[in-house]
Amino acid sequence: AAKAERRGSCRAFEASMDEAAQEKNQLEQDFRVAISGGELEVHYQPLVNLSTGEVECYEALLRWNHPRRGLVPPDVFVPLAEEMGAIDQIGRFVLFEACKEAAGWPEHIKIAVNVSPLQFRNGKLLSTVINALSTSGLSAERLELEITEAVLMEKGPRTAAIIRNLRAFGIGISLDDFGTGYSSLSYLLNYPFTKIKIDKAFILNLHREANSRAVIRAVIGLGKSLGLTVAAEGIEREFERDYLRDEGCTQGQGYLFGKPGHARTLAISGAGTA
Ligand code: C2E
Ligand code: MG
Ligand code: MG
Ligand code: MG
Repeated sequence: AAKAERRGSCRAFEASMDEAAQEKNQLEQDFRVAISGGELEVHYQPLVNLSTGEVECYEALLRWNHPRRGLVPPDVFVPLAEEMGAIDQIGRFVLFEACKEAAGWPEHIKIAVNVSPLQFRNGKLLSTVINALSTSGLSAERLELEITEAVLMEKGPRTAAIIRNLRAFGIGISLDDFGTGYSSLSYLLNYPFTKIKIDKAFILNLHREANSRAVIRAVIGLGKSLGLTVAAEGIEREFERDYLRDEGCTQGQGYLFGKPGHARTLAISGAGTA
């Protein structure tokens, strides 16, 4: 009986694997349609100066408006795109969209775009970025690229060279989600970062964990002494903003200041959104 039961649960397992595989297949198919069919859109979330409250930058965050499933989050479809070999195409789309949009904003407002580690692999990132800048007319100083440690773990001299070249053009380089990975301090010394973004996990726990506050203070101190802008993500409450500001954090991002929204919903004075 035990054997039969095992066989049964094995079949159930296989069936559910099958279902999962089919589901994923379907999602992949849908995603190909999404890329060509205009179901992808870029939303924008403000980063504000914590001392003045002024918006200094918007981060471009990709959204997939699925006709049946509704909004599919990037944590789901970005890995899917990476697996399908579609991340370059998508990365290019976000860069061109975001630069075009930002070119209509007041000069002092920057645009931040997330870049996947895989976009560093085929050697085309630099030319894609330069192309997006020249097509949109946006100056390089107004563009920031957000990368995670996963990019730096690619090792290889090419990754470092690409980052240096981007920086040499005047483009800002932010280290995203800082504190969650290996957070090797040597990264901060060996790459020309202009900004560190403290991961939202630390801000979430700020109110109840002395350890989170210790990490936050240490990262702010480190960033400041290296001459970097220090930003914190995931700020939802006033006391989090106050704490970060008082500790010397430069910029804040989070629902307290604004959720990611479509370009036409942004209240940017003097913005020429089409
Ligand atoms: P990220 O770059 O760390 O972006 C910050 C995430 O935190 C965003 O999630 C944002 O909506 C969310 N967030 C901002 N403020 C708050 C807050 O106050 N509370 C909470 N709970 N969350 C907040 P989102 O838009 O779902 O994006 C998730 C991740 O997907 C991003 O993390 C980024 O790694 C990736 N991603 C998004 N767009 C792109 C893209 O165009 N290209 C690539 N390669 N990755 C992207
Ligand atoms: Mg980011
Ligand atoms: Mg982040
Ligand atoms: Mg993240």
